[in-house]
Amino acid sequence: MSIRNGKTAGKGSAGKKQIAARPFHYRGRELACDGISLEALAAEYGTPLYVYSAEQIRYRFGLFQQALAGREATVCYAVKANSSLAILRLLAEMGAGFDIVSGGELERVRRANKAALKRVVFSGAGKLVWEIDAALKAGILMFNVESEGELEVLAERAEALGIRARFALRVNPDVFAETHPYISTGLGEHKFGVAIGKARAIYRKTLRSKWLDAAGVSVHIGSQIRSVEPFAAALKRVVALVAELRSDGHMIRTVDAGGGLGVDYEETIGAGTFDPAREVAAYAAALDEAAGELNARLLVEPGRFIVAQAGGLLTRVSFVKKNGEKTFVIADAAMNDLIRPALYQAHHEILPVVKGRGATAPVDVVGPVCESGDFFAHDREMTRVKADELLLVLDAGAYGMSQSSNYNTRVRPAEVLVDGSEARLIRRRETLKELMAGEIL
Ligand SMILES: *Cc1c(COP(=O)(O)O)cnc(C)c1O
Repeated sequence: MSIRNGKTAGKGSAGKKQIAARPFHYRGRELACDGISLEALAAEYGTPLYVYSAEQIRYRFGLFQQALAGREATVCYAVKANSSLAILRLLAEMGAGFDIVSGGELERVRRANKAALKRVVFSGAGKLVWEIDAALKAGILMFNVESEGELEVLAERAEALGIRARFALRVNPDVFAETHPYISTGLGEHKFGVAIGKARAIYRKTLRSKWLDAAGVSVHIGSQIRSVEPFAAALKRVVALVAELRSDGHMIRTVDAGGGLGVDYEETIGAGTFDPAREVAAYAAALDEAAGELNARLLVEPGRFIVAQAGGLLTRVSFVKKNGEKTFVIADAAMNDLIRPALYQAHHEILPVVKGRGATAPVDVVGPVCESGDFFAHDREMTRVKADELLLVLDAGAYGMSQSSNYNTRVRPAEVLVDGSEARLIRRRETLKELMAGEIL
């Protein structure tokens, strides 16, 4: 099933034309994604519906590749941001590596593109034995190890399977990155990684191990970080550690600077203030400076920056109601489809698919789930919204579908990928039967 926009322009045109920071734009009064009508998509596939632009995803990924082209580097897309198989395949075809945090994500990479397994780095503070085994057998590039206990288990499993394990200790550089506390990870108080001051002693214990290959060092300081200084500060500390480790006899070949580069969720479409190319260039320049004469492969693990603004959540308004002074717009999408507002007090711009006219007034845009946390916006100024009309929640491509749930026994949304002049269903809407399939009466 697919929808075409009738134009012949299509795939492969990405490098030439000017690409806006988001694929959504008004054509006359109607909102489209890379020229494909959102009304048409909603009519074909129903709502709530995630809509992504392949062009925007390729563009964003390409920015990292180009910005780091001056040194040996691999861009390992963080799968948890959006783990759709179709998106993983698209990125793998561009040469992406992948940052995974579970055996499930490993399986996704395998299904999307087997050849990409050798470019996988495995992060996460609580890896299970079956996950370690699967990753060893898959021949992944690197285990980003987060504790001494994990290192011991990794050595045991490597020996049991007869496969030498390349690892990087994830160090905690104690750098403060200003972001929401739930997505800040680089401080001494967090559960992630090991304190950088303890790293050298831990590496030293592996020097004579036949089964552990201390091939790298990794760091990840958090997510939605809007300034480049914390990344540079963290990397500088890692580079200093690398020198010490090499003097101890470790053959460090990779340095993983993690992910976390943020986007502008406040800006609306067409404002033109957020320039992804400029952001990535500044990020890469800061890393490049901090890395200096590193003489190692640099890995970066961007997730959000690549997919967040490439996607939106299309939802139809069920009802508009007034309670006292307040107006509530009740959408058919809910917190189970996109939990970011409830979980992180995240801001998402919301646009009417048919441009409104007249004065604006404040409304709360909410879902039907039985929680006061089920909202997309509070006191948002919008032109008059009516029942049955379509709204687009912007910048929902990252940590949207991948954090969705079946809360309130709601089936998860369908997903569509717009690629050039064509829109393709990449995940059909779940059915109630599938949703209850594992239950036993
Ligand atoms: C979540 C995560 C990322 C990606 O973070 P973004 O903010 O989406 O870029 C990268 N590396 C690790 C270890 C992560 O946990």
